[in-house]
Amino acid sequence: MSSTFHPPKRTLMGPGPSDVNPRVTGAMGAPTIGHLDPAFVGLMDEIKELLQYAFQTKNQLTIPISAPGSAGMESCFVNLLEPGDKAVVCQNGVFGGRMRENVERCGAEAIMVEDEWGKPVDPNKVEAALQAHPDAKLLAFVHAETSTGARSDAQTLSALAHKYDCLSLVDSVTGLAGVELDVDGWEIDAIYSGTQKCLSCPPGISPVSFGERAVEVIKNRTTKVQSWFLDMNLVMGYWDGKGGRTYHHTAPVNSMYGLHESLVILKEIGLENSWAKHAFHHEALAAGIEAMGLGFVVDKEYRLPQLNSVTIPEGVEEAKVRAALLNNYNLEIGAGLGALAGKVWRIGLMGESCCKTNVLLCLGALDAVLTDMGAPINSGKAVAAAQAVYAG
Ligand SMILES: *Cc1c(COP(=O)(O)O)cnc(C)c1O
Repeated sequence: MSSTFHPPKRTLMGPGPSDVNPRVTGAMGAPTIGHLDPAFVGLMDEIKELLQYAFQTKNQLTIPISAPGSAGMESCFVNLLEPGDKAVVCQNGVFGGRMRENVERCGAEAIMVEDEWGKPVDPNKVEAALQAHPDAKLLAFVHAETSTGARSDAQTLSALAHKYDCLSLVDSVTGLAGVELDVDGWEIDAIYSGTQKCLSCPPGISPVSFGERAVEVIKNRTTKVQSWFLDMNLVMGYWDGKGGRTYHHTAPVNSMYGLHESLVILKEIGLENSWAKHAFHHEALAAGIEAMGLGFVVDKEYRLPQLNSVTIPEGVEEAKVRAALLNNYNLEIGAGLGALAGKVWRIGLMGESCCKTNVLLCLGALDAVLTDMGAPINSGKAVAAAQAVYAG
């Protein structure tokens, strides 16, 4: 017999979802109203404004797509590309590979610029590719590569795109609210994110933003967008609301309550403070990891504070460690992905998960589990090293 599901209470320190503030889940439990109810329309307007704040943009077309980050990715590609177009795609981890898939499924050609996993995208290679392909329409890259924890220079790459008359298309699913991001200042033309990383919302919504240049391209397409659901020409009618909202699809009303509350919380904290918070707790975590004798995949300069790829000590079965953390400490950390599968753990410090309690819990638990297994680490040092950072 099925009965009510009671999820275990976990601490989420993987690559997302992250811990959700009870204010957000509380907001999601409010009564469902109609998606064309004037009260909901007012909420949508506020969400748009709050997203403009989070992205640092005045872009009118700044909206939450009613589906997870992958749908935000797809919405950018299917709207901006037409069959026969060319796109330069940077790959330094899993998500650049997915961008390629998107380009090819649009009937366009992907010119790949590859960098080692764990390294940022190399602007010199990008420039060479743009020079070699003057007919390219856009440059796509991942700002915050969640599969490795590397941060790429979105400002420089976006400027390069414009130097060669391309649009810049940026994945900042993990970047938004975790590290500096300035959509207007960096002249990013199209960007997508997700709710379950540094915004600390349940998964399922993807904020996107399209600048004027991108909107022009979308409006002047000669072929229909291959996806009816993600066609911005249709979605704009729903979100623009100039002549009254028209029905496109039923918005996930309660999820929007949650996104709204998480953005209100972000505004209360302040964007710059949110970036500083991530950097600060990363320092403490890194001190503990290093005191244990473990290393990082990404060089300090390019490291994302919110996603830490940590090396696994010799002879340790990494999945057993994750299972012990989950079973004995209710703590989730992430496994390696793609080229880093089996080689790293990914420890997330995203949004609500990025706090002193979690840093100390994670270091203490990892230390205990590895020590129990007889792993070659410096036992009993990690928590004190982190505490020393907190003590200043
Ligand atoms: C998580 C993530 C995605 C995909 O988001 P989903 O919500 O899982 O669909 C895309 N790109 C990056 C960099 C991510 O971290």
